[in-house]
Amino acid sequence: MDYKEHIAIVEDWPKEGVQFKDITPLMDNGPAFKAAVDEIVEYAKDKEIDIVVGPEARGFIVGCPVSYALEIGFAPVRKEGKLPRETIKVDYGLEYGKDVLTIHKDAIKQGQRVLIVDDLLATGGTIEATIDLVEQLGGEVAGCAFLIELTYLDGRSKLDGHDVLTLMQY
Ligand code: IMP
Repeated sequence: MDYKEHIAIVEDWPKEGVQFKDITPLMDNGPAFKAAVDEIVEYAKDKEIDIVVGPEARGFIVGCPVSYALEIGFAPVRKEGKLPRETIKVDYGLEYGKDVLTIHKDAIKQGQRVLIVDDLLATGGTIEATIDLVEQLGGEVAGCAFLIELTYLDGRSKLDGHDVLTLMQY
């Protein structure tokens, strides 16, 4: 499947100099979206995953159908102030800004095997922070899956030692 034909490239968004990869045309195409989700499910299938974790907002879009297909749960990672119960948090830097990510304190049980899913790996800041949250709760990151990897930003260097799947590279 040539997923790239379903990615729209938007110049200078959300700010000048950024070349944004828009996944909404992929989401809008049933067979392409299903093929992408299926590929992540196939990757995860033999990893004995207990729970899928995805950062907002596009990590929900890709991660939830993966958890549904694997018949396991999904735990959201969100910006500060968005989750209603007790959370833990981590500061992180991203491609264009700084922020705080949080997860519910009871989202992951000690020793659970976690698949982290997001739409895109850029500098790796978001995923590094998400791994930090999972590990703080005693989870074991068994895999990380993304639709897109921006290889020129070398986010992979932050994922040293982790098993990583990316379906498209730019
Ligand atoms: P990182 O933290 O620098 O790796 O950035 C990855 C995060 O920013 C992911 O959660 C993405 O959703 C978002 N992101 C960064 N660049 C893009 C892009 O070009 N398209 C879509 N999402 C992006």
